[in-house]
Parts: sequence; structure tokens; C-alpha cells
Amino acid sequence: AALRNQIAAGEVVERPSSVVKELVENSIDAGSTQVDVIIDRGGQGLISVKDNGIGVAADELRLAVTRHATSKIANIDDLIAVTSFGFRGEALPSIGSVSRFKMTSCQKGATEGWFIFVEGAEVADEGPAAIPGGTSVEVRDLFYNVPARLKFLKTESTEARRCNQVLFKMSLANLEAGFSFTSNGKEQFRLAQGQSLPERLAVFWPRNICESMLEFSHEVGEMKVHGCAGIPAVAQGRGDRIVMFVNGRSVQDKLLLSAIRGAYKGRLISREYPQAVLFLELPPEMVDVNVHPAKMEVRFQEERSVFSIIRNGIAQALSRYEL
Ligand code: ADP
Ligand code: MG
Repeated sequence: AALRNQIAAGEVVERPSSVVKELVENSIDAGSTQVDVIIDRGGQGLISVKDNGIGVAADELRLAVTRHATSKIANIDDLIAVTSFGFRGEALPSIGSVSRFKMTSCQKGATEGWFIFVEGAEVADEGPAAIPGGTSVEVRDLFYNVPARLKFLKTESTEARRCNQVLFKMSLANLEAGFSFTSNGKEQFRLAQGQSLPERLAVFWPRNICESMLEFSHEVGEMKVHGCAGIPAVAQGRGDRIVMFVNGRSVQDKLLLSAIRGAYKGRLISREYPQAVLFLELPPEMVDVNVHPAKMEVRFQEERSVFSIIRNGIAQALSRYEL
């Protein structure tokens, strides 16, 4: 019961960007090669995520939006061993309980699609729908029935920026898919399928940094780090630009951050900052991805090895460049 409580609605859906994250994770889980995200009014008016993935069969659509029906985890062990993105089976029912929620889907190869409309956790309408293969989710009036949550939100432009950032980060970990992001009718970015990491980064970060980034890859035992790191002299700016992923999930973690900074130690002069995108891959049992979905915290079994593989992996790339 404690587990259930921890992952209850309020925690999955903290703000519009959490909805974007959950919906886009589902799209990626579904093998989509194109994911288009549209928001209005910072996501409070509308959050729409459309994909070209495998889709959901009509008779499974109702299950997908019903609480507890689709959980991919049965117990704590499953939770620890989980490697796929969507692991809670709670996202859609949670979002559906705090919004006016419409999901339309057509399974690959099916002749007809199906839609289901949920309002305040109740299925209000459903029926056949014309849609090409894939899934479209529309979340309107987020938190219309939870005034306390609404009050907690920042300005629309801040919430929009968070949605933008969440999608930006997810796009870095999924280069094989194309993404677009539109806010208040204006396209903010469009990322082609199959871009390289530096190419994709250059859409968001200064071009001179991205063009000169060093790619690194380093493996020790069952752990692997890869990604790209900015060259010190080029990597000037107002501060760090660091994005980190553990087993494909975007995280904020002090240990990883200090390992990256450690690699740059002694290499930077004043007003130069580390710039890096880091992917750490390790066996799921060696990392505890916090079950609190809103936080992106992780705990490692072997902190020292994690620290050194990252610091060494990046430092080696930097010193190869310095030669
Ligand atoms: P979880 O991802 O943890 O299973 P969700 O509530 O996020 O739980 O999604 C419930 C289910 O709905 C998924 O397991 C999947 O079967 C289906 N689903 C959701 N979104 C999509 C999508 N974009 N494409 C295909 N299936 C989807
Ligand atoms: Mg999910």
C-alpha cells in the first residue's frame, strides 16, 4: 500500500511538464519515430502528444486509462529490476483524474481507430475515430478540479519553458526519433529523426560549442559512460550546460555532476564552464531510480566506481584533445 501511495496521482502529475514527460515516454515505449508535442498556455490549456507508434487496440484503451489496470510492476523486485521507461501503470489514469483527457489510437495494421474521453477520472465518451497508425493524447484544462495544484504553478511562460526543457532532454536520449514542440501556436523546435547528438544539441546550445564537442565512450566492467563534452577554451558561457541520463532517464544528481566537474578540474580558466551530455548505463540492480517520479534522483550502489568511470571517461577525452 505504501508503494501505491508513493506513486499516486499527485506525485506523478506535478505540473504540465510532468504530463509531457509521461506522455512522451509512452510514445517512445511504443516505438514511435515521430513525436509531436503541442501546448497552449503553458500546458494549462492544452497538452497534445501525437505519435506514430504501435498504438493501442480499442479494447485495451479503456484499460490503459483505468487506474491499476496496466501496471508493468507487480512488486518491489519488479520495481528494482525495471528498465523500460513506463513502469508504473499510473500515468494515464493519474492524468485522466486531473484533466479533461482524450486518447485516440489506431494499432498498426488496424482499419479503424478508437477514442476514449475521460473527465474527472470517469469515462465520459468513447467510440470509433479516424486516425492514422499511432496514438494521440489531448490533455485539456489540467488541474481544473485541483485548485491547490493550479495555485502552485508558475507563470505560463515558465511552465512552457519547463515543457520545452523536458522534451529537449528526452530528445537527446532518443536520437532515432524526430520531435517537434509548438507552444501557443508557434513552433519552438523541430528535430529530424537520426540526427547526431551534437547536431541535435546545436538546436539548443551555441553552435561553436556543439561543433567542437568531443565524443567520449568508456566502459568498465558492467558500467558504460558515453556522450559528448565541450572543449574548455570553447566552452565559455554563463554557467554549466550539463545534461545527464542514467539508463536513458534524465536525472539531476550531485555525484554525477561532481564527477563531470572533476574531469574539467585544472583545465578551465575563469569564465569557462563544463559543457557535457552524459549517458551512464549500468545494470538496473546497481542503481535505485527513485520511485518518486517527479524527482529525478538516483542512488548508486557503488558510488566510487560511478564517480571514477565518469571522471576518467571525460578526462581521457579532454586529454586526448590536449595532446
Ligand atoms: P505504463 O506506461 O506505466 O504502462 P501508462 O499509464 O503510462 O502506464 O500507460 C498505460 C498503457 O497505455 C501502457 O502500458 C501502454 O500499453 C498504453 N499506452 C499509453 N500510451 C501509449 C502510446 N503513446 N502508444 C501506445 N500505447 C500506449
Ligand atoms: Mg507510461
